Amino acid sequence: MPFDYYRRLSARDKAVYRKSDAVREIRVPNARTLLPFVETLREAIETESEHGVRTASRALVDGITGLLGIQPVRVIVRRRRPSNDTGELHGYYTLTDERGAQIEVWMRTAANERMVAFRTYLRTLLHEVVHHVDFTSMGLSDSFHTQGFFQRESSLVRQIAGGTGKREKAGEGKKSVEHEREHGESRARGRGRAGDAGGAVQSGARPGGKGEVLEVGKVGAPVKSVVPPVQLSLFGEAGAERKG
Ligand SMILES: [Zn+2]
Repeated sequence: MPFDYYRRLSARDKAVYRKSDAVREIRVPNARTLLPFVETLREAIETESEHGVRTASRALVDGITGLLGIQPVRVIVRRRRPSNDTGELHGYYTLTDERGAQIEVWMRTAANERMVAFRTYLRTLLHEVVHHVDFTSMGLSDSFHTQGFFQRESSLVRQIAGGTGKREKAGEGKKSVEHEREHGESRARGRGRAGDAGGAVQSGARPGGKGEVLEVGKVGAPVKSVVPPVQLSLFGEAGAERKG
């Protein structure tokens, strides 16, 4: 069952949506080798080391793109989340010809500038990585928030950080994730999508046939993106104490 906004999409976008929805998993070869980066990231967040969070986030994402054999993506970790009436900005993915692929994430809440919970932060980071995979490996011309997308995100979280997060305050990360999903439909459209390059992204890794699993990493050639500028933002819960 597609999300409600599916009905409002053009025929071409519907096709992209269905492709996205059909792939439930991103399989990362040797994902366990990334665990040290995850642990370093957790430690950095728990000790509120901003430098550590930046370094560990980059190392982790580099590790993922390396294992997947896809083009790298720049990771910029900013401090305080921007906010507006719809909530706080958690993460942002852009892909332009000039700058290439870029992930921005924020490590402190808008309301109190508190460090974001580890699990929430990690999920946001990996969420943006899934957008990157959509464009650079799946060859999609847009990256919709479909059920398949969220399942790919979950599969990534499981593989990258399966057993971690136990020390999280009960329910905190979970609540945020659910919230994110509630909002998945409204913020699903890429902003700044100037036209449609329809299948212009080259990749050998595609959801084949019934396409339950996306296996990447076997494709050697780096991806040359000719997709028009793309911006995807991830808004989450509004800070309750946000200044009105
Ligand atoms: Zn998103």
